[in-house]
Amino acid sequence: MLETDAAKEKQSIELKQKQDKLKASSSVKEMQSFREKLPAFKMRTEFLKAVEENQVLVISGETGCGKTTQLPQYILEEGISSLRGAHYNIVCTQPRRISAISVAARIASERGESLGETVGYQIRLEALRSAQTRLLFCTTGVLLRQLVQDPDLTGVSHLVVDEIHERGMNEDFLLIILRDLLPRRPNMRLILMSATINADLFSKYFRNAPTIHIPGLTFPVSEFYLEDVLEKTHYEIQELDSFQGNSRQRRREQYSKKDPITELFEEVDIGSQYKNYSASTRLSLEAWSGSQLDLGLVEAAIEYICRHEREGAVLVFLTGWDEISKLLEQIKGNKLLGDQSKFLVLPLHGSMPTINQREIFDRPPPNKRKIVLATNIAESSITIDDVVYVVDCGKAKETSYDALNKLACLLPSWVSKASAHQRRGRAGRLQPGVCYRLYPKIIHDSMLQYQLPEILRTPLQELCLHIKSLQLGAVGSFLSKALQPPDPLAVENAIELLKTIGALDDKEELTPLGRHLCTLPVDPNIGKLLLMGCVFQCLSPALTIAAALAHRDPFVLPIDRKREADAAKRSFAGDSCSDHIALAKAFEGYKEAKCNRNERAFCWEYFLSPVTLRMMEDMRDQFLNLLSDIGFVDKSRGVSAYNQYSHDMEMVSAILCAGLYPNVVQCKRRGKRTAFFTKEVGKVDIHPASVNAGVHLFPLPYMVYSERVKTTSIYVRDSTNISDYALLLFGGNLVASKNGEGIEMLRGYLHFSASKSVLDLIQKLRGELDKLLSK
Ligand code: ADP
Ligand code: MG
Repeated sequence: MLETDAAKEKQSIELKQKQDKLKASSSVKEMQSFREKLPAFKMRTEFLKAVEENQVLVISGETGCGKTTQLPQYILEEGISSLRGAHYNIVCTQPRRISAISVAARIASERGESLGETVGYQIRLEALRSAQTRLLFCTTGVLLRQLVQDPDLTGVSHLVVDEIHERGMNEDFLLIILRDLLPRRPNMRLILMSATINADLFSKYFRNAPTIHIPGLTFPVSEFYLEDVLEKTHYEIQELDSFQGNSRQRRREQYSKKDPITELFEEVDIGSQYKNYSASTRLSLEAWSGSQLDLGLVEAAIEYICRHEREGAVLVFLTGWDEISKLLEQIKGNKLLGDQSKFLVLPLHGSMPTINQREIFDRPPPNKRKIVLATNIAESSITIDDVVYVVDCGKAKETSYDALNKLACLLPSWVSKASAHQRRGRAGRLQPGVCYRLYPKIIHDSMLQYQLPEILRTPLQELCLHIKSLQLGAVGSFLSKALQPPDPLAVENAIELLKTIGALDDKEELTPLGRHLCTLPVDPNIGKLLLMGCVFQCLSPALTIAAALAHRDPFVLPIDRKREADAAKRSFAGDSCSDHIALAKAFEGYKEAKCNRNERAFCWEYFLSPVTLRMMEDMRDQFLNLLSDIGFVDKSRGVSAYNQYSHDMEMVSAILCAGLYPNVVQCKRRGKRTAFFTKEVGKVDIHPASVNAGVHLFPLPYMVYSERVKTTSIYVRDSTNISDYALLLFGGNLVASKNGEGIEMLRGYLHFSASKSVLDLIQKLRGELDKLLSK
C-alpha cells in the first residue's frame, strides 16, 4: 500500500514538472491566449470551486463557449498543479466517435503534448491512451460497456457527461445508472454539460444539483427563410419525382400522415400569405413539397453566397451521407461557381472513418472559400469558428418507433426550434453572420420546441440487452426511473423480441446467446447474423450484410436512371431472389475491382456508392475483430476457414433467416401473382427498390426482410426468399424448449405439415445448433 502511495506521489510530481515545462513553451503560450478569450475562462475559478464542493454539477452554455475543451482541462490542470495528478482519472463522454477524437486531439495540442499522453481517447475498437493518461474522452457507448466490468466506476475520479441536451438514448440510460451509483461513490464527481437548453430538467433529476451558466459570446445573425432565398436566387423549384415517379397528389398522401407540418403548410393559401413576393417565388413555394430536399436549391443558395456575399466560410446542414456526397459532386460540376480552385468543399459526418480534421477547423488558404457540408453533428458538438454563413435544410434524420405496429423508421424529419436556433447560431462565432433557411417561415413557426428524446422514439431491444448485461434488474422498473420513461408497450415489445430470438429466456434472464450478443455493439438481430455466419462458415456475406444493415445500403437509386440501376442490382442477385445476396455479391465485385484498381468505374457502372462501400469495408474489419475477441473467429486459422459455404446460397439464406427472424413474410399464391402477409400487420408489399419487386411467383414460400416502412402502404425493404425448412431450423428461438412447443408454435404459424419423425429430427438439429451458439 505504502509503496503505491509513494509511486503515486512520484507520478504526481512528474506530471506537474511536465506540465510546468510545457506551459513555458511558445506554442502553449499562444494557445493559452486563445483559451483565455473563451467565455468559459471567466468562470474557471467558480467552476473549480463548485466541482470541489458538489458531487453533481450541471453546466450550461452557448455552443463554442469552451465547455468541452476547457472545463475537463481545468480540472486536469488544477489537479496536476496541486500535486494530485496521479489520483485523477477524468473521463468525459461524447455521443459521437468523431467528437471524442477531435476534442481529445484539440486538448492535447492546447497543452502542447501528443495525443495519448496525459490526454487520450477511446472509441469502439480504437484507442489512443497510455498509463499516463489522466483525461480520457470516450463515447458514451464505451463507458456503458466499461460498466459491465466496473459497475461502480472505481477507476474514475471525475465523470463529465457532455451534450446531454441532445437526449440521446445512451446518455439518458447512463443518467439512470449514475443516479443510483452516486451514493456508492461519494468521492466521485459528476459534471453534466449541455448547450443552453433545458438545464433545469437535469438539475431536478439529480436532486436540484447546482447549475452554472456560462454566458455566451456570439454576434447577431440575420435570418432568411425560403421565400427570401427564392427572391434572391431566382431559383425555381421543380416538382420532384419520388421513387415511383408519383404525381404530386400521391406524394402528398404519402407524406402528409408522417408530417403534420407539411399538412399544415398545404392548408395555407400561399398566394395570400406571401403576396409581397414575386409570382415565380409564389409558384416555387407551391411546388416546394416539404418532403424531399431539392439539392438544386441548396446549390443555388451556396452559389448566391459565393457570388454576392463577402468572405467567410459556409456551413451547410444536410440530413445524411446521401445528400452530402451528391452535393459534393454537384458543386464540383457547377460552372456558375466559376474557378473550382477558389473553393474548399469539405464533408463532415458523424461516422466518417477518418476525418481530415485540420482542414475543417483551419482557416482556408487565401482566396479560397471554405464550404463545409455537414449533418447535425455541426449543430453543437463541433464548432467551426470561421463560419459566417449557415445554410440550413431544417431537417435531420431521426428514428421514430411506432410501438403499436412495431414499426421503426429512420426518416428525415423537421428539427425542433431549439435545433434551428442552434444551427443559426453557428454563423455568429467571430463576426455577425447570416443564416439561410431553406424552408418557409410558417414551417419554422410550427416546429416543436424541443426534440423528443431518443429513448421515446426508438426500439429498445439493444438497450434492454444492455440493462440485462449490467444486471440492473427488471427492465420495466429500471426504465421507469428514466428522465422521461419510455412507453411500457415499447419495453414489452423489446423483451418479447429478445425472447423470440433466444437472447432472453422465459424468466427474462440472458441466455448464452444473449451474453454473446451483449458484447457486439450492434442491434441484436445483426449480432445474431454475425454469429451464425461464423458458425455456419459463411462469414464473408454475413459481414457484408451486417455492415450494410448497421450502416447503410451501398446501392444508389438515381431518379432519372432508375431502370438501369434496378437492372444492375438484379444482375448481382442472379436467381437468388434476395436483395441481401445481391448486396454481398456487389461487395465482392467491388473488392475484385479494387484489386484491379478500377473500383471507380465499377461503382459507376453498377450504381454503387464508393463512399458507402469503403465505410462497409471498415465496419467489416471491426466486426471481424469483435468476433475474434469473443472467440467466434480464430484468426490464426485464416478467414477462409470461415467461408467454406459463403457461395452456397441456401446456406446464406438460412443464416439470414436466423438473423432477420421474426421479420417473416408469407408468400401466398393468388392466381398468377403472389401476395405477401406478415403476422403483425397483415398484407404488405415488396418495396419498389427491391430485386423482388414485380416478380410474380417465387420458388420458395417465405421471405425474410430487414425492415418494414410505411408510406402509401406498408413495404418490406430488402427481402430474401427462403424455404420452410430454413424457417423451421433457423427461425426464432434456438434454445430448444423441453417439450418441443417451440416447434409446434412455428409449425402452427407456418401451416407446415410434416411427419412426426421429421419434426423430431428438426428438434434435434435445433438442439445441436443451440449448443454451437452457446459455446
Ligand atoms: P463547447 O463545448 O462549449 O461548444 P468547445 O470547447 O468545443 O465549446 O470549443 C471552444 C472553442 O475551441 C471554439 O471556439 C472552437 O472553435 C475551438 N475548437 C474546438 N476544437 C477545435 C479544434 N479541433 N481545432 C481548432 N479549434 C477548436
Ligand atoms: Mg461541446
